[in-house]
Amino acid sequence: MPLVSMRQVLDEAAKGGYGVGAFNVNNMEQIQSIMEAARETKSPVIIQASRGARAYSQDRFLYHLMVAATEVYPEIPTVLHLDHGNSPETCQSAIDMGFTSVMMDGSLMPDGKTPSSFEYNVEATRKVVEAAHAKGVTVEGEIGCLGGIEDGHGAGLDGLSHLTDPGQAVEFVKATGLDALAIAIGTSHGAYKFSSKPTGETLKMARLIEIHKRLPGVHLVMHGSSSVPKDLQDIINQYGGKLKPTWGVPVEEIQLGIKNGVRKINVDTDNRLAITGAIRKVFVEKPEEFDPRSYMKPAREAMKKVVALRMTQFGQAGHANDYKPLSLETMASRYAAQPVAV
Ligand SMILES: [Zn+2]
Repeated sequence: MPLVSMRQVLDEAAKGGYGVGAFNVNNMEQIQSIMEAARETKSPVIIQASRGARAYSQDRFLYHLMVAATEVYPEIPTVLHLDHGNSPETCQSAIDMGFTSVMMDGSLMPDGKTPSSFEYNVEATRKVVEAAHAKGVTVEGEIGCLGGIEDGHGAGLDGLSHLTDPGQAVEFVKATGLDALAIAIGTSHGAYKFSSKPTGETLKMARLIEIHKRLPGVHLVMHGSSSVPKDLQDIINQYGGKLKPTWGVPVEEIQLGIKNGVRKINVDTDNRLAITGAIRKVFVEKPEEFDPRSYMKPAREAMKKVVALRMTQFGQAGHANDYKPLSLETMASRYAAQPVAV
């Protein structure tokens, strides 16, 4: 089965009332971890690559690894999504490469750092929607600015200074015709999200619920939603690492989000922690080993366990075979039949 449209995967998630994890990758082992977890839990998959990941893997390597994933795991509907496209040009290059979904993050200027104006965001996102939908490709946009920095991308804000305004979100969706909307409700990128366990109050869940009430048909996206579990931090520190105490987004808050329109949940840090902990453990316990497979295999297994757990917690487990994937051509003709309102 070829790579599928994210819109279809999220539409199905909305029908079934579950969320779908979107996991970041840079290399073969991470892709294999996610696909194995998906097979084990019978889950649809969203795999995403940032600009940093595309540069690291020279783009075409990553794309062909994803094609391999669809050949080895033909029973799993698999989406390849661009995370935080910084300009319409970047999104276009991903569409040309074969990504089936792109994020146009027009909440920041193309430098990926400076918060933009609402007008700029609408114009950039609309442009991407036009080009992407013509090819059946899905578009995620963002309104409000997230905290932290991801792969060099991000304003380095504290996560609370540019929360999504619900009225503006409604206007943004109408003006752009996008498929999925990333909102800022206090989450941030990276491992150091909160200095104590956050509550629904810290996370501004009430605002998320309000946005969902005003936009019930729009698929909401939670960025920066690793839970940063203590056991994964502990393994790293036990084997010589130096992580400072930190808290992520509790799974219960994500599940509350899923009950209120969240269909895509971005997770990267948890997988990075799992991989690093497993590698450190081998280095300390078996210092005589020098075959990379001796530590990459346990790393792959550790990441698979985290991904399978998240797939179960988000509710996507068991839903891989609920539907027949539609071709991008079919998606394109559906979009053409419902042009964006001006
Ligand atoms: Zn993000």
